[in-house]
This record gives sequence, C-alpha cells and structure tokens, in this order.
Amino acid sequence: MNLSDRLTHPIFSTIGEVAATEQLETYVVGGFVRDLLLNRASKDIDFVCVGSGMDLAKATAKRIGSHVHVNYFKNFGTAQFRSGDWDFEFVGARKESYQRDSRKPIVEDGSLQDDQNRRDFTINALAISLNKNDYGTLVDPFQGIEDLESGIIRTPLDPDITFSDDPLRMMRAIRFATQLNFYIEAKTFEAIARNKKRIGIISRERIMDELNKIILSQKPSVGFILLDQSGLLELIFPEFCLLKGTETVDDKSHKDNFYHTLQVLDNICQSTKDLWLRWAAIMHDIAKPQTKRFDVRNGWTFHGHEVLGSKMVYRLFKSMKLPLGAEMKFVQKMVYLHLRPIALTKEEITDSALRRLLFEAGDDIDSLMKLCEADITSKNKVKVARYLQRFETVKQKLKEVEEKDQVRNFQPPVSGELIMQTFGIKPSAAIGTIKEAIKEAILDGKIRNDYNEAYAMMLEMGKTLGLTVVKQ
Ligand code: ATP
Ligand code: MG
Repeated sequence: MNLSDRLTHPIFSTIGEVAATEQLETYVVGGFVRDLLLNRASKDIDFVCVGSGMDLAKATAKRIGSHVHVNYFKNFGTAQFRSGDWDFEFVGARKESYQRDSRKPIVEDGSLQDDQNRRDFTINALAISLNKNDYGTLVDPFQGIEDLESGIIRTPLDPDITFSDDPLRMMRAIRFATQLNFYIEAKTFEAIARNKKRIGIISRERIMDELNKIILSQKPSVGFILLDQSGLLELIFPEFCLLKGTETVDDKSHKDNFYHTLQVLDNICQSTKDLWLRWAAIMHDIAKPQTKRFDVRNGWTFHGHEVLGSKMVYRLFKSMKLPLGAEMKFVQKMVYLHLRPIALTKEEITDSALRRLLFEAGDDIDSLMKLCEADITSKNKVKVARYLQRFETVKQKLKEVEEKDQVRNFQPPVSGELIMQTFGIKPSAAIGTIKEAIKEAILDGKIRNDYNEAYAMMLEMGKTLGLTVVKQ
C-alpha cells in the first residue's frame, strides 16, 4: 500500500529530503499512521530513523529555518519541536528488553523491525517510509491494517510478554478499545486478566491518565466494563466495584448501582465534555454501599449517601492522585447536591426551594442540573419520560426565579460594616445574626433581594435585639 498522497503536510517531503542527504533511513510511525488510516485528525507525528533521532531533528530544523526551536532529551535520545499546533517527535529506532520489576527497559539501537516489535499493539506498530526508493510505502509486519479494518486490538508479540514488560499497556488496550470502539482479541484480553497484578508497578498518575482518557471518550462505560471484566478495576478503583450487585428482601430489590452509575456517566457524556463533571457522575452514588439499609416500611434506602459520598471524594481523589484543588471541590459539591433538583420534582415546587438551590449551587447550577438529568435512569421508559418532563418544569422555574431574585451569586445587600455603623457597635455576634436573618428572609421570599428592603429589615432586627440607631 502506498500512502504518499495522504502525506500532505510539508514536513513529510522535507524530512524525506533530509533523510536522503543525511543517509538516515526514516519513517513516520505509531499513532499518527493509525489515525491517518482511520481518518481521525491527529497533530502529533512521531518520526523514527535508523540512527540518531536527535541528528534527524537537528538536520530537519536546519532545513526549515532558524526560527525552529528544538528540544533535545539526551537521556532518551529523542528530540521534539513544534510548528503551529503540530508536534513533531524524533527518535532513533530501538530494541528493548525488560526486567521483571521495572517499567524501564534496557535499550539498544535497533532496526525498524526491532522498533516495531517493541510497540504495544499491531495498529500502533504501523510505519510509512519517507525514504527515496519507497516513499509512502506502508510497513506493516503484523497485519495491523487488517486489525484496523476489523476493529481489533492485538499485541504484536506474545501478549503475556508485552503486558508483563510494561503493564501500562493493559490500560492502553482498554483505552483504545473504548476510544475507537474496537474489540480486544480474546488471547490479548485473557493475558490482561492474567497479568492484572503487574499494574502495581505503574504509577497512579500514569494509570489515571489512561483512565481519564477512557472517561473522556464517547461511551466510557465500555472501558469500565472491560476494566471490570479483566479484574483491573478492582485493583485501581475498588470502591467503584463495591457498587456492583442487587439484593432482594421481601420481593423488593434495589437497582445495581454499578450499571446505574455507568448509565449516568454515558448519559452525561451527551451533555458535557468536562472531565470533572464526568467524574461527578462516577462518584455521585459512591457511598450507596455504606449507607444501604432495609426496613419493612421504606424498603431499601441510602440515607445520607450524598453527604458521605462527598466526604469520600477527597480520600478517593487523594489515593488515585487526582488533583485536590478546585476540581476536587467541584466534584464534592456536585455529589453533595445531586439529590436536590430531583427532590424538587417530587413535591410542590416553591420559589423558596428554588432560591435555596440556586444559592447553594451558585455558578455550578447548570452542571448540577446536567448531572441530575443524567441521573434519571430506569428500565421503564414511561417513567423516565415522565420524570424528564417534570425536570424540564423545574429547569424553567429555576430560570424564572433566577431572573427575578438573582440569588445565584448571592451578595448580602447590607454589609457587616453598615450594620456596625448604623448601630455604633463593634464586631459581635449580633452582626452575624442580622445578616443571616436577612439572607434567610430573602431565600424564603419574605423580602426581595434589594437594598431598601434589607435595610428596613436590619432596622427591625436591631430593635428586637435592643440596639439603638446612631447613624442613619
Ligand atoms: P494518543 O496520542 O491518542 O494517546 P498514541 O498511540 O499516539 O495515542 P502515544 O502515547 O502518543 O500514543 O504513543 C505513540 C506511539 O508510541 C504509540 O502509537 C505506540 O506505537 C508507542 N507507544 C506508546 N506507549 C507505548 C507503550 N507503553 N508500549 C509500547 N509502545 C508504546
Ligand atoms: Mg500520540
């Protein structure tokens, strides 16, 4: 197969010329070739040459012009430069051999074939020649092109060796299966299950990079189910596995919260690309196993799972080495509030309840509403439709209340300063009492979110607290 007419970026012919003058056998390799054949846009290109990748980068940059800034990574023998939003990486072909307890291989110079052998999957081991005699020719020693066409993830060599050498590849296999909607060949998948424990030598950060890519794909449930079936999920996120299963007492069953959560996650992917809102979907019911109770009157209940769940977020993020700043706090808040909008659909919707929800959610109200909408799942389609309809009403009313009262980013209409000046008092508990009462009155709709009404209430309150006005 010749792909020269698909190599449209000028870098390819430039590198072809450099390869000829420098007498360096050179190829495009890996993810870029795979994505080119799948018609997926990709702006990261890896070049491999039989020789020094750093020399190839240097000669290429020289030919392009002095404005190119090359980064050299001497320890790895690689080099990289950017051009616009394109990223070019240069590496010398290498042969790798591994030791049991490390991801770090012993590396030697090698041929193109050696370099292809060390790659993780047949579809990632494709190369295109940039050499004069066969420019554009696909070099495909493992029938990667057939696997691409039939949608199969398979390792080029014995999968037990491939995964044991570098266990991160197990995560990558499942990540690619999810992103590309591919099938992991049975032999390869069985090897993942057999080697799952080796994941222990991989850092949390790298595991999470792959998990996050799964979560950012179109249908993350595919990846979670493969992680579960292979036994990897139990090792990297055991708390999530606890959601599995249903129980029945007196003919009453609760839903399987594992599959429910995956459904919520897939649902929310239709309305957001935000990784952390997707994480909120993953976490929203995480404390259900710990809060599950059964009694004859109420059947199955999970009281307080939103409170305990939001507390668990910190510990889980920490142990998974996920960021602990604003992202984590956002997930906590979503988990904590996730029942509130749904509760509104079940009762008479009062403006006061809506104002309280707006006040607590603040600018995250839209995210919260997306989470709640995604949380409406049931096997019964009529039920889902009815809930969604009521949910629309809540959304509409929320909008009206927000326009009227503007409590989304509530700022107290009278400040502590003003209270102190008016009554000539020093910082004290009375100030907090007055401010809190005003806020409550606004949220309850007793007064409007307005300076004059709040001021009048402050004077009233002062009177009942025995304060005298010293400055009007
Ligand atoms: P993406 O860029 O979407 O993450 P990719 O396949 O390009 O996918 P990269 O991490 O950019 O992944 O790696 C580029 C290439 O390097 C891969 O296509 C593969 O050939 C090789 N590669 C990357 N990681 C590994 C690994 N852990 N084991 C073997 N080969 C790997
Ligand atoms: Mg890549």
